[in-house]
Amino acid sequence: MSNSFVLVINSGSSSLKFAVIDANSGDDIVTGLGECFGMPEAVISWKYNGEKTEEAITAPDSHHQHAIDRIVALVDTLGFNKDIVAVGHRIVHGGEKFTSTIRIDEEVLAEIESLSDLAPLHNPAGAIGIEAAMKAFPSLPQFAVFDTAFHQTMPQKAFTGAVSNELYKEYGIRRYGFHGTSHYFVSREAAKMLDKPVEEASFISVHLGNGASVCAIENGESVDTSMGFTPLAGLMMGTRSGDLDPGIIEFLMKKGWSQEKVFDTLNKKSGFLGVSGLTSDARGILEAMEDGHEGAKLAFEVFTYRVAKYIGSYMIPLSHLDAIIFTGGIGENSLPIRREILKNLNLLGFVEDEKGNEDARFGAAGIIAKSEVLGAVAMVIPTNEEFVIAQQSVELL
Ligand code: ADP
Repeated sequence: MSNSFVLVINSGSSSLKFAVIDANSGDDIVTGLGECFGMPEAVISWKYNGEKTEEAITAPDSHHQHAIDRIVALVDTLGFNKDIVAVGHRIVHGGEKFTSTIRIDEEVLAEIESLSDLAPLHNPAGAIGIEAAMKAFPSLPQFAVFDTAFHQTMPQKAFTGAVSNELYKEYGIRRYGFHGTSHYFVSREAAKMLDKPVEEASFISVHLGNGASVCAIENGESVDTSMGFTPLAGLMMGTRSGDLDPGIIEFLMKKGWSQEKVFDTLNKKSGFLGVSGLTSDARGILEAMEDGHEGAKLAFEVFTYRVAKYIGSYMIPLSHLDAIIFTGGIGENSLPIRREILKNLNLLGFVEDEKGNEDARFGAAGIIAKSEVLGAVAMVIPTNEEFVIAQQSVELL
């Protein structure tokens, strides 16, 4: 029997992540990354059978196309041609148009491009990846999996901003939410672990990586999420501010800050990096705290406090709570950050299971706390967005 491998492509403006995934087992067969596109240092690297290979990209023109051509050659050399049944693309913004994974044709591609207004950094890059892959694999079906799609079930009261309705009608300004593939995956896995049909399960899913978001999930569907019109909203992140008083923007601009400087600061110099004055990386924050770094300690406190506040407020849309789910690089690995968030949730009755919290790290799922008050648990589920992309592509075939 031949394999069902899917080539998963996540194309960014200056990089392209790729993976060959076994759609049945979820195993990564090959994982790789092209980066520094558009610059002389452009490079592509991949891991196969535990071995890493790196090659410079010397082509003067489209580095995206070159990277995909290199992937075609790699797949051929490794003898996977007959095993790859589809190409799955991660696309950031599906607007209100795309509510689930879809097979890509010319019309879908044009729609993705037309949504570039909403995601100017991401959607054009996604479209370039699709075009390059269509050229390189003309006989393979291609699928688009959207970060926003899972959140399209949010009710109007959750996605409507308290602003002039002209902004929605004229520009489509509303809450869209991101990280949908991750919130979808961990909620399905959590339901399996709790032995409950996902259609009857309610969760608060907490994805904490460089980007971070919380999602309220009622009967398996997203009903609210903390990222908004852009991924800048909601939680404090590695370098992003998350929620802030919009009046600050006007204040800074009156002080002579350019629009570019304001948004560069909010997107790239805030969050862990901004508050600590040290690093955007949670591990670095925890290490510096041990050395008594005041900024790192404050960053840790602000971050954990804000996550807990969001969790508390996301009880509101739910009829009951089965579990709080932690995922993402920080959520999956950082015992002290999870511990502090749970401590902040004291009023909701969460009591840490210290051994559970120790054990659920570095790829292991598990229950880390229980609340008798709510009849709920807190758990860790490692996310796997590539697996969802592979699985949904094969399902649609
Ligand atoms: P991205 O959003 O870019 O996919 P990840 O989900 O990989 O990011 O998360 C990256 C974050 O996870 C970084 O802040 C990193 O420090 C943190 N992280 C990874 N491993 C650990 C660990 N063992 N302890 C604490 N934080 C960790």
